[in-house]
Amino acid sequence: MDKMVNNKHSRGRPAGDSALTKPSREEAEAAVRTLIRWAGDDPDREGLLATPSRVVRAYEEWFAGYNDDPREYLKRTFEETGGYDEVVVLRDIRFESHCEHHIAPIIGRVHVGYLPRNRVVGISKLARLVEVFARRLQIQEKMTAEIASCLDTVLKPHGVAVVTEATHQCMTTRGVHKTGVSMVTSRMLGVFRDHAETRQEFLSAIGVRNLHNVANGA
Ligand SMILES: [Zn+2]
Repeated sequence: MDKMVNNKHSRGRPAGDSALTKPSREEAEAAVRTLIRWAGDDPDREGLLATPSRVVRAYEEWFAGYNDDPREYLKRTFEETGGYDEVVVLRDIRFESHCEHHIAPIIGRVHVGYLPRNRVVGISKLARLVEVFARRLQIQEKMTAEIASCLDTVLKPHGVAVVTEATHQCMTTRGVHKTGVSMVTSRMLGVFRDHAETRQEFLSAIGVRNLHNVANGA
């Protein structure tokens, strides 16, 4: 899983022959037709004729994150912090992603916090950062860790905190059919990992009272 292909910023794209050459649009549409037949329907009936091309276009949108380097969004930082040395928190960043096990939607919110070291970043850039990782095939734990690690690498703050809450449609619409269940994952780096007080400040800001079980960077 550590060999990346296709472009120099293709983080998260696994190696393997199938990943080396991108299929043509026609091949992708043919695959959708196969899945329609697998579901038990006729891809040639009127209502389904345009479905393969629609699905392939939807994939371009849902998985646009493979074309973007999230580090680019953070490069325009604002060094003038005016002496600001408190935690910056952006909460409730809504995201839509897809689980890499079922390609089913994962829908939720990400809360991002960091303690700047001279450099701060525009809030829209943080939202874009989340979006780039969300628009890839994901598992929630990995996405949470990737967002934190990217912020940490580019911004080099005193610490980064990321908490993700999401529902997984592969759980609510199939399998165990559990509705109303959301999963919470977190990644704490630097001062957020080392200082309970700073971590608590972040958790209070995002309205999470108790995160002992997942606050260790899991
Ligand atoms: Zn799944």
